[in-house]
Amino acid sequence: MRFVLATANPDKAAEILAILGPVEVRPRPASVPDVEETEDTLAGNALLKARAICVATGEAALADDTGLEVDALGGAPGVYSARFAGESATYADNVAKLLRELRAVQGREARRARFRTVAACVFPDGREVVVEGVVDGHIAETAEGQGGFGYDPLFVPDDGDGRSFAQMTAEEKHAISHRGRAFRELRDALGL
Ligand code: IMP
Repeated sequence: MRFVLATANPDKAAEILAILGPVEVRPRPASVPDVEETEDTLAGNALLKARAICVATGEAALADDTGLEVDALGGAPGVYSARFAGESATYADNVAKLLRELRAVQGREARRARFRTVAACVFPDGREVVVEGVVDGHIAETAEGQGGFGYDPLFVPDDGDGRSFAQMTAEEKHAISHRGRAFRELRDALGL
């Protein structure tokens, strides 16, 4: 079985390929345009992207949508994590804004957060599989580490040893991450 990836984000694509291992996955062809995330749920956006790429390529398509939910911000930025600091925000802009918004929130308990990934697979015959992966943790008071991407320098998972995701190797991150959990569940659901 062969899959096309919907994501245009090379950081996410590299992680998905590493997590899925020997499963045959190819990147979105350059001729197929990116799909705009217009839904207001992670599942809605993941399905929107997977359906569009399946229709455009005629192949089984894989998509994911991820959000960082911060309790002290009422679950924000959530589905809007990519655009937290504005439409064309960089990773650094989003990290800086999150640190700013949490400046007055002190202590690990008050800074609780989780990453949630919804992964969707859509087949040309119309079959759809949707799964979710979650990792709990807290937002650090300063950015730490050079690995990973996005909010990784600020996210310290409960299942780790106190390091941020950006301070871990890729393998350490994938073993406990939202994306690792979601795509391993997807692999199991598809019998791969
Ligand atoms: P997307 O909409 O699924 O591409 O992800 C939303 C935003 O969340 C991205 O722009 C990243 O900044 C962030 N993000 C997604 N996955 C991760 C991750 O594994 N670690 C840190 N940040 C992430």
